[in-house]
Amino acid sequence: MKMRRKTMLVVMTLLLAYGLQVVYVKSLPSEQITILGYHHIVEDKDKEAYFKGNMWVNSLSSFEAQMKLLKEKGYHSVSLQDVYEWRMGRKELDEKSVVITFDDGFYSSIKYAQPILEKYGFQGSVFVIGSQIEANRSEYKPNKRQHATLADMQHTKKLSFYAHSFDLHHKDGGFRVHQLTKEALQIDTQKEASLVSTEFYAYPYGKYNPLIQEVLKQHGTKLAFGFNENRKASRQDDPYALPRFNVNAYTKLDVFYQMVSQ
Ligand SMILES: [Zn+2]
Repeated sequence: MKMRRKTMLVVMTLLLAYGLQVVYVKSLPSEQITILGYHHIVEDKDKEAYFKGNMWVNSLSSFEAQMKLLKEKGYHSVSLQDVYEWRMGRKELDEKSVVITFDDGFYSSIKYAQPILEKYGFQGSVFVIGSQIEANRSEYKPNKRQHATLADMQHTKKLSFYAHSFDLHHKDGGFRVHQLTKEALQIDTQKEASLVSTEFYAYPYGKYNPLIQEVLKQHGTKLAFGFNENRKASRQDDPYALPRFNVNAYTKLDVFYQMVSQ
């Protein structure tokens, strides 16, 4: 009897220690979170044939290697709504949380990124340029950077679609966002809102100014994202200027791992 009680005590102690360890490892809350920013993704043979020197076009195999690494290292993806709740202090995200985003609304986000996300149990968000949404799904042309249609966006399981402006994605003679009046920025945002959700907004080229930030605040946008700051977003960051990492064709796997782990 005495022996059995002793054994029970040992087992209980071990269970408790193990349990605590699991809780500790799993739910260590994070004050910083990695937001990854991708653009176009193509099959490796098409990268080689049509986009060899283009840093904004990632190969499918490199994207898959990155997602596989995240999975193997115990990361999980969270939604932009999760990031919003976290930023507002209403939700904790653990240190293995990562946000996966794709800019410009390319059809490749659906055709190539989504199946990989699904394979590894991740979700992603796509920031769509309203004026470039295609009217009809044309045949896939690997040498072109085709954009998604509204219908394409409706049949996705792992992707959510948000705003990347209606028509501010120009930098001829300076970034368009810096050239427009508040009224013009409001009109652009309203046009975008008639096509996709403007709850979350990524600035074209990551460029913003106080005017567009004010427009988005008044419009009711919850969070807005820069690009290429290449640092984690923290709870102290301006919710209308959250930084993202630039994951491009030259991002090596060890550098990618540093983006999420450091
Ligand atoms: Zn863009």
